[in-house]
Amino acid sequence: MAKYIFLTGGVVSSLGKGIAASAIGALLEARGLKVTLQKLDPYINLDPGTLSPFQHGEVYVTEDGTETDLDLGHYERFTHVQSTQKNNYTTGKIYFNVIKKERLGHYLGQTVQVVPHITDEIKSAIRSLDCDGVDVVIVEIGGTIGDIESLPFLEAIRQIPYDVGRENAMYFHLTLVPYIGSAGELKSKPTQHSVKELREIGIQPDALLCRSDREIPQEMKKKIALHCNIEEESVIGAIDVETIYEVPLVLHREGLDTLIAKKFKFNTDPPKLDVWHNVVKTIKNPSNEVTIAMVGKYIGLRDAYKSLIESLIHGGIANDASVNFKWLDSEELEKHEIDEYMSDVDGILVPGGFGIRGIEGKIRAVQYAREKKIPYFGICLGMQCAVIEFARNVCGITGANSSEFDTECTEPIIYLMEQWFDFKTNTVQKRSMESEKGGTMRLGGYPCLLQESSNAKDAYKKAEITERHRHRYEFNNNYREILQSKGMRFSGLSPDGKLVEIVELTGHPWFLGCQFHPEFKSRPTEPHPLFKAFISSAIREKRSLFPTHGMTALEQRR
Ligand code: GLN
Repeated sequence: MAKYIFLTGGVVSSLGKGIAASAIGALLEARGLKVTLQKLDPYINLDPGTLSPFQHGEVYVTEDGTETDLDLGHYERFTHVQSTQKNNYTTGKIYFNVIKKERLGHYLGQTVQVVPHITDEIKSAIRSLDCDGVDVVIVEIGGTIGDIESLPFLEAIRQIPYDVGRENAMYFHLTLVPYIGSAGELKSKPTQHSVKELREIGIQPDALLCRSDREIPQEMKKKIALHCNIEEESVIGAIDVETIYEVPLVLHREGLDTLIAKKFKFNTDPPKLDVWHNVVKTIKNPSNEVTIAMVGKYIGLRDAYKSLIESLIHGGIANDASVNFKWLDSEELEKHEIDEYMSDVDGILVPGGFGIRGIEGKIRAVQYAREKKIPYFGICLGMQCAVIEFARNVCGITGANSSEFDTECTEPIIYLMEQWFDFKTNTVQKRSMESEKGGTMRLGGYPCLLQESSNAKDAYKKAEITERHRHRYEFNNNYREILQSKGMRFSGLSPDGKLVEIVELTGHPWFLGCQFHPEFKSRPTEPHPLFKAFISSAIREKRSLFPTHGMTALEQRR
């Protein structure tokens, strides 16, 4: 039977609960244990698929095509967990399941209530992860202690030890220990209050993860332990770090995994942390540096591009380089001379997105990358923009567009396919314009075959890959021949050859657009091949620009 670790958060939000949960997972994996992680989100939406990235950050997509909270991205980057729909539950999803059961007569005439029916549903969602030889199930509860919304989740986790045994569950609480400048001291009171609140609902934490901007002295740990009714060694300092990938190392130094091993009586060797030490060393002392232009419309909110940012950092790690981000608002690029923005960039990336806003700016960024031979990486919408740009400016198809942006478009080079073969279910899928979202999304992992001697094949070093999708529109095959004749390569196709998954340009240092989202499958310890190749080409091109002294990169390009 699996052991359970429950992680709650107190004092304020944004303390990095997702990273803390992931780091605990990484440490346990480094001890040779098998973990899985689950996020319980208190909001009512069935999943974050319908939430604006402005509000909730990126929508992370799992292999099985579930649209989930971005914390699952951290889980998959820090551990080898392959999440599914079972790893993320919202209040909405729990209630939805209970209501469905009620309609089917499952409750035999009982009054359906929060306790026990909702809490039982939550408990069974948690316990369903005790399978496939998992040693530890780590459950992160969204929100902050004191929120009304998360109460049913907290009640459910309070009850779990009654089902699995107190010795098989641990409660971790993440709090803030702020430094008050005027007093010249760290303060423990917010932590004490937060723990008090947790105890009022019946949960006595086993350990505290104390976020702080500096080392927490032993005396302070002693005080926190005394007031919060825990052992001194269970007060773990979680001090601010330069990179999130240092968190497992910090928590290990503070004795966190030893504490867990002791409580659960795990007889493992100390964790093997070399890979994490190497990641941190490279991030802190890189030999190279590149600047990547990120051309998007959510640039004010970095959480909207969480996995993408991390994947580029991973690409940097693979090349012993640090990556600087130059965030460019695609709407700005529509109004101004593009040269002004691009003079100091070594690579251009157009990420995924929905809707027409800023599209022409993105297309101009692609044109600039193509003409000035700057490495280009287009992801999902970024691939679609690359195709539109090429059709318009190289093939002379001036009306080329996506039917997402112009339903009346005469040259719908990107369009809604009416039907397509789904390799996951081995069935033909039909899109229905009547559905609320205006057609079914292609979601989750799909196979793709790579062409010989292409940038894609060189990067992946294998012929067949699986990558995750989240889009409705596809490349229109009626235009394949003409684009091909002008130098665009379709280097990645679905196994039946019908869906274009990767496009490239011949005669360009590195120009690749993919219909999928490779950023959902990159890890700091195993950087994704495409990000590795993109950063490598940006470094290579940067070098080739500088032999001519006295000229700026831009002057060279002209
Ligand atoms: N809006 C485009 C589509 O639905 C691209 C989606 C994306 O970039 N994720 O096809």
